[in-house]
Amino acid sequence: VVRSRIATEIRPEGRAFIGGGFVSARGGEVYPNYNPATGALINEVARCRAADVDQAVNAARQSFEQGVWSRLTPSERKRILLRLADLIDANIDELSLLESIDVGKPLLVSRDYEMPEAATYVRWFAEALDKLYGEIAPTGGTNLALIQREPVGVVGAVTPWNFPFDMAIWKCIPALGAGNSVVLKPAEQTPSALKLAALAHEAGIPDGVFNVVPGFGAETGEPLGRHEDVDCIAFTGSTEIGKRFLAYAAESNMKLVWLECGGKSPNLVFADADLDAAAREAAKVFYNQGEVCSSPTRLLVESSIKEDFLARVVEHARAYAPKDPLSADCLLGAMVDTAHCDRVMRFIEAGKREANLVHGGRRLTIGASSNFIEPTIFESSPNTVVAREEIFGPVLCVIEFATEAEAIRVANDSIYGLMASVFTRDLDRALRVARALRAGTVGVNVTDQISPLVPFGGVRQSGNGRDNSLHAFDKYTSLKTTWIKYSN
Ligand code: NAD
Ligand code: MN
Repeated sequence: VVRSRIATEIRPEGRAFIGGGFVSARGGEVYPNYNPATGALINEVARCRAADVDQAVNAARQSFEQGVWSRLTPSERKRILLRLADLIDANIDELSLLESIDVGKPLLVSRDYEMPEAATYVRWFAEALDKLYGEIAPTGGTNLALIQREPVGVVGAVTPWNFPFDMAIWKCIPALGAGNSVVLKPAEQTPSALKLAALAHEAGIPDGVFNVVPGFGAETGEPLGRHEDVDCIAFTGSTEIGKRFLAYAAESNMKLVWLECGGKSPNLVFADADLDAAAREAAKVFYNQGEVCSSPTRLLVESSIKEDFLARVVEHARAYAPKDPLSADCLLGAMVDTAHCDRVMRFIEAGKREANLVHGGRRLTIGASSNFIEPTIFESSPNTVVAREEIFGPVLCVIEFATEAEAIRVANDSIYGLMASVFTRDLDRALRVARALRAGTVGVNVTDQISPLVPFGGVRQSGNGRDNSLHAFDKYTSLKTTWIKYSN
């Protein structure tokens, strides 16, 4: 009750964050941001356009050239980012409640997972900064060729709505850590990164170094993607829009474009697997309302165990009955907004026509909102729409296979290649299949493992480049060689 009252009374800042402070959009326009689980207005958000993007990019450029951040030592930047991590911890209750009402996700997910992770990622990147060494080339003679990493300059980050705070951190913290200045455009549904900028400012990040311009894709994202003074774009979102950023770069200044796009990750379960553990993992597809790019949405099951295994997965799916996201036992909340809920339901209706509905499939009304969808399981051939397209909702598609070769062929028959997993007790098979699967990450007897310690990203139309691990810094730095000739 207290949570619901706070949730309706909380009024987060909705103005843009440019040059070290909150400002309205130049045109004075705002748009409403609703809680999808109740329909209540959360706040009015600055509707930024090209002029605001310009202002933010100029602030970023100026701060970069002045060196107020870019020329600090890595240890100094580390100290400030560690302070930011502490501030995230100190504000965890407010941040997680905000994230829950903004996205419609269970408060538990944001409170116990997303926000603690956020601080962990910031700390991990911060700690890395003064441990990254350059190289000296083996030229020999009276030469000294230094190979150093330098920041690329102004980084534009464009992020999605499913993990708004974490995605902003995955992009912005390594970019900032490397010494760049950043302009972030969060998804219009979830402008919560405004709070991240305010905390970063409080931690000591200088004015102009970290800017946030909320707004719509075509009005804010496109001018950022086409900006002549942006050196690099880091994007997470759909494959369709990822391709547009490649076009924006080609048609403007050839900026770097790093893409983390869609997925339809296959999860292969062989008859010899620990079926209990595999079923529990398979049901994690419903985590975060299924609004996860890397989630194991294609469940490939060996024919001999299909009936038994499906029954176990259905059992686990029951735990994900949609509930009020603020309730203590909610594991599955509301879809992010009505338009997305409609889109997921259209997929489900298509699935009912061309595949076999095993579980769920209905849209539910809870309280004042009809943005809830039951965990839904289809059994299908590999060639239906539900088996091939990224749905981004609580929908699992089960496909049976007879042989290992068939499983690999079906698994790889996709435009995507973000994640994959295989469940078996046979070590030879596990390694053979893991090698054959085309994906950025393959889980063996586990799905969707994500950590700051390992790279995250895909092959094919799931994107390029990697978030997380030390490789994240590759995207936001360029190599500079300084060749020094000296005399004997
Ligand atoms: P999207 O790709 O449309 O949006 C991602 C970001 O790009 C947002 O900040 C958005 O405002 C911006 N954007 C949208 N159109 C743009 C344009 N023309 N120019 C510049 N920027 C633009 O994704 P979405 O609409 O939020 O979701 C649609 C689908 O994308 C989902 O159903 C899902 O399949 C996929 N998706 C994937 C991820 C992921 O993590 N890979 C996250 C969210 C959504
Ligand atoms: Mn919202």
